[in-house]
Amino acid sequence: MKATIAVLPGDGIGPEVVGQATDLLSHIAAKYGHDFEFVEGLIGGIAIDETGAPLPPATVALCEASDAILLGAVGGPKWADPTASVQPERGLLELRQHFGLFANLRPVKTYPALVDHAPLRADLLRDVDILFVRELVSGIYFGARQEQGDGDDSYDTMRYSRDEVEQVANVAFRAAQGRRKKLCSVDKANVLASMRLWRRTVVEVHEEYDDVELEHLLVDAATMHLLTRPGSFDVIVAGNMFGDILSDEASVLAGSLGMLPSASLRADSFGLYEPVHGTAPDIAGQGLANPIGMFLSAAMLLRYSLGLEGEARAIEAAVDDALAAGLRTADIAGAGEKAVSTRDFAAAVKSRV
Ligand code: NAD
Repeated sequence: MKATIAVLPGDGIGPEVVGQATDLLSHIAAKYGHDFEFVEGLIGGIAIDETGAPLPPATVALCEASDAILLGAVGGPKWADPTASVQPERGLLELRQHFGLFANLRPVKTYPALVDHAPLRADLLRDVDILFVRELVSGIYFGARQEQGDGDDSYDTMRYSRDEVEQVANVAFRAAQGRRKKLCSVDKANVLASMRLWRRTVVEVHEEYDDVELEHLLVDAATMHLLTRPGSFDVIVAGNMFGDILSDEASVLAGSLGMLPSASLRADSFGLYEPVHGTAPDIAGQGLANPIGMFLSAAMLLRYSLGLEGEARAIEAAVDDALAAGLRTADIAGAGEKAVSTRDFAAAVKSRV
């Protein structure tokens, strides 16, 4: 198959892990007889430095002409001044909103080889395999707000429409159908009107998916259940802010932020794929970055935007094999375990594909 992939490395360790991912995808293309064209664009801090904008129009145009976007991460101390007129993170929000990427998929799973290094008891972490589906373009991050000023009063508004909840609930129910057929919807329906609409709508959408078991949790309870019974969850659907917080909480289950991939999707096959981690300025440029979150994001791109399930699984299996063989980057190396560089870990995955 022929596909054009927009590549936006961004800042910090972004270019380091993105470079390894395009290399891996080229290897997949050669092995399976595909033709992937990579077109590179600017986003984030480097885009501000070179053009003055975190998401230059040329980058938007390049993404519009592509089948999917592969992104590293944006931001860093150089652009961290909160009073600056433009921030790198704005580029990411604009990109998600421009393309209407309303469903953010974040899988979190534990690897048998790593459970002993995680901060939770190993017996709690056995068989954890959760897919978070977070609403991404509405809710409190996009509601009416009192812009920052020097006053003593400010507000943000959490609002949802029935359509917005329906579309993300449909993605979550369909995902559950393809997995273990359990969906947990997280809200705060006991206090917030927008969350009562959320729960009502999810219950209505459930009527079309009677093979899926539906559970509701209030967000405060969900934070505890995630740590006390993580293995019992299959798919979790939540609004923008609650999904953001809970999926970050769940990232500790996997042992390192560097392990986690994400996909941001809309109703057609177009999507944005990026690791969950940021630009890790503390380790940038040292060859220490864990490329797994980036690699698994590339696998999601193959699966959701290009429909190449076998190729996606080949990457996932190669990552599993490399970990089982004892290969570790520094962030996941336990006491006494030798860590390998980003490049060596990537080569080990590539050779196993
Ligand atoms: P971070 O994810 O960059 O780093 C948190 C910690 O995890 C650091 O100690 C880092 O070294 C480690 N880490 C992260 N990814 C890793 C990897 N692949 N391999 C090994 N270790 C890894 O979060 P932060 O430090 O809070 O933020 C740093 C910058 O990144 C900030 O400017 C922030 O705004 C930005 N950020 C961007 C995104 C994004 O682009 N999606 C997400 C989060 C943070």
